[in-house]
Amino acid sequence: MTVSTMDYQHYLSESSKARKPSAIRRLIPLTKLPGMISFGAGAPNGDLFPFEGISISLKNGQSLQIDSQILNDSLTYGPSDGIPPLNSWLKELQRLQHSPPKDFVVSIGTGSQDLVTKALQVLISPGDNVLFESPGYVGIIAFLRHQPCNLVDVELDSHGVVPAKLREQLQNWPTDKRKPKMIYTVPVGGNPTGVSQTLERKKEIYEIAREHNLLILEDDPYYYLQFGDKIPSYLSMDVDGRVLRFDSMSKILSSGLRVGWATGPAELINVMNLVTQTANLQPSSVAQAITYTLVESWGYTGFLEHTLKVAAFYKGRCEAFCHYGRKHLTGLADWVEPDSGMFVWFYLKGIEDSFDLILTKAVEKKVLLVPGIEFYCHPKETGPCQFVRASFSNVSEQDMDLGLERLASLLREHIAE
Ligand code: PMP
Repeated sequence: MTVSTMDYQHYLSESSKARKPSAIRRLIPLTKLPGMISFGAGAPNGDLFPFEGISISLKNGQSLQIDSQILNDSLTYGPSDGIPPLNSWLKELQRLQHSPPKDFVVSIGTGSQDLVTKALQVLISPGDNVLFESPGYVGIIAFLRHQPCNLVDVELDSHGVVPAKLREQLQNWPTDKRKPKMIYTVPVGGNPTGVSQTLERKKEIYEIAREHNLLILEDDPYYYLQFGDKIPSYLSMDVDGRVLRFDSMSKILSSGLRVGWATGPAELINVMNLVTQTANLQPSSVAQAITYTLVESWGYTGFLEHTLKVAAFYKGRCEAFCHYGRKHLTGLADWVEPDSGMFVWFYLKGIEDSFDLILTKAVEKKVLLVPGIEFYCHPKETGPCQFVRASFSNVSEQDMDLGLERLASLLREHIAE
């Protein structure tokens, strides 16, 4: 049975259904009404803030000034879903990039991690089963480990989630176990695997989500780091409104800005905003004003041109890294050459478990990698793991050559033992 009418109450946890907007935050938009005399919100007096202006110097020599009205508004408290000019800019970006078939809203967060965890927080009820890619993003595994839910491994291959396995898992779901309401996935440049789901896969997985009434949490910070044509997103095929999508400026403008945005149905995003109201009131509006000033000066074409330059850089790094991989690791390791992102997932042949080898002997040889087991939700059940994650984003070609040579010599010594 395919479900196309969404009952969002079905997905929300009991505690999030009980959330109420903050009495004070509700008043903020009213303070802007013409003629309003506000004794309401307890905002500090902005005249005392020492900032007169913020100018941004770009590496290309250009200088930008944050508009004084936007700056004044950003120096004080603002809306939980982000400053209006940036929120609108991002909404239009989503329309241009993904043309979502259903109505949607955008909410800005302190990086995308902030929003993914808030989404999970409003959706998870105690005892829920959450479908999670295995291996998957360690930052969210760490969050979910402390949520009152069970993580259900979803199998991946060289194109990410395997639809046939997912379908089988859901079709054979035991009747006495609560059925999952959602699947979390990183569809592009997977962290740690570096692989991406093809369009065909995404379509199939979307169909499975319809058949089993799942929400898709599309965590896509590497979307703009695709080396070739962009694969359409889940959001772009979302005829039901069952996708919550997460984007990030971290890989394209700056990770320290902490600007990410969630896109999806208002019924879910608004509840996430209520979490923001109690957790951190709002993401930094000064960081958003800087972001807005920059992207607005570029326009959508300039923004996309910038992302293409970033993607071309990582493509070059990836090709070089794989070249040195072939030079040193042929016969010692296998991997799938990524088509996006910044990671390579090496399968180390001839060793039983990468954990001690990488954390002790590789460190002695002065080469750092992340042991693969860190990316599994159930490390004990997964058992010994032969994988390691390598990131090529910040390494010169010379260091790639040297580092992979060190790894190769370590593997040779270890196999010889
Ligand atoms: N999701 C994934 C898959 C990531 O790899 C990262 C960054 N490591 C994040 C989310 C968090 O990104 P942000 O800086 O936007 O919070």
